[in-house]
Amino acid sequence: MPVNLPKTASSIEKICQDAECAEKIASLSEAEQNLFKTFTYCPYCAEDLTFVCHTCREQLTSSEYKFCPWCGVKFDESKR
Ligand SMILES: [Zn+2]
Ligand SMILES: [Zn+2]
Repeated sequence: MPVNLPKTASSIEKICQDAECAEKIASLSEAEQNLFKTFTYCPYCAEDLTFVCHTCREQLTSSEYKFCPWCGVKFDESKR
């Protein structure tokens, strides 16, 4: 068991890898961002959305992860 896990919970974010889309997504309201998390494709460019760790911004291959494989943070499932 790793002993150095951060105590604070993080969350999985969905992003578009296009910088312009990422800017638009970042400026969405909280309610819109919550809705955005349910999307599969980017509403601005129709590309596949990518899961990233909110804490270390590394790319995740699944939204089902309970912990970040890169930084070890726990994902708060209530924030999905
Ligand atoms: Zn996009
Ligand atoms: Zn991480």
